[in-house]
Amino acid sequence: MKTAPVPPVLPFLDLLSSETLAKLANVYDKQSHAVTLYFNRSTFSDKAHSEEALTFEHLVKSARDKSQSGDANPGLSKDLTRIFGMEPEFRSSPNRFKAIFACSDRQIWQEINLPPCGDFSRLEISQRFQIVPLLRAMEACTPYCVAIIEHGKARIFIVHGTEIHQMHQLPSEELTMDAEVSRVGWCHHTDGSLGERTKAYFKSLARDLRELLQDLTCQYLVVGCRDDLWSELKPQLVKAGMEDMISGRFNLSSFDMTPDEIVQAARPAITGKQRQQYNQFWESVREESDLSAISVNPVLRRLESGRVQTLFLGDLSGRIVTECANCHKWLNAGNLCPACGSSYINSLPAEELLVRKALSTGANTIAPDFAMAALFGEVGAILRY
Ligand SMILES: [Zn+2]
Repeated sequence: MKTAPVPPVLPFLDLLSSETLAKLANVYDKQSHAVTLYFNRSTFSDKAHSEEALTFEHLVKSARDKSQSGDANPGLSKDLTRIFGMEPEFRSSPNRFKAIFACSDRQIWQEINLPPCGDFSRLEISQRFQIVPLLRAMEACTPYCVAIIEHGKARIFIVHGTEIHQMHQLPSEELTMDAEVSRVGWCHHTDGSLGERTKAYFKSLARDLRELLQDLTCQYLVVGCRDDLWSELKPQLVKAGMEDMISGRFNLSSFDMTPDEIVQAARPAITGKQRQQYNQFWESVREESDLSAISVNPVLRRLESGRVQTLFLGDLSGRIVTECANCHKWLNAGNLCPACGSSYINSLPAEELLVRKALSTGANTIAPDFAMAALFGEVGAILRY
């Protein structure tokens, strides 16, 4: 009897929920004891290990020096000591993107591990956690499925950044004649009803793939197969409602491609699909003038009134905005908060305030990595009304 695919436990898909992100984004520590660490070295060697130690020491030391609160606070001191004590762990697995959000005073210690996303090191001690680099890293590692397909057999992978995980056999594999045939695939010239069998197999495979991707909340599919098979498989995927998920196809050089070869072959399709979606977003921003906003101030204004449905963060490097330190309203101009009258004002990166407001109002955020973000405008938004 056919059984539904069991959702696999993939540790790398245990990503942060938007609720957790919103909680992190909302932390406000008046004493400036919120510590954010990002650490990622994509290359490593014996020499790089000692360099990492130096970078790490430098990061902690300069953040301590820069911090206005110094080491006087026991909670902050405890967090920095704990981070500094993790150096051997960073040394042993440097080829990861690591983020730590810590605030002892508030019993917060959140660690996030992702596949490498380029060299990036940053340690900040301030009133807020800096969450935009995490969002960009998460978007760069958006999980996708790769299906390697031959006659009557398939290998299914879930890719997360540079990491790849092969899934177990799908129920559709049971349609093959017997275990031996299942292993080697169908043979063209010995089976007269090959066309019907292929169609039935692809129909079943498409259904299984859709169920699998729904269970994994995976929105992209890349297929590796020969041209003749693709013309038969694609209509079945479309019928199964997967047209929007199909991100591209590559020609299969061998059914036994190595995982690295598969990631290399599939990656351009995903990058292309993402770029296409970002382009579509910006086209809608330009076309829907009544239901869109562009640039920092207009977008912040709409976010404050809860009108933003989707926020797109382009390259906002160096853009600073101000907020009221008392009621956290964005301040467009002046030194007095019009809402509460406070003259206590904070300066902060525009992208951090934009994302915090998006998370607190339930708006979606698209945060491409820096290379991709630079191809588009500073910031844009599609509005709810
Ligand atoms: Zn205020």
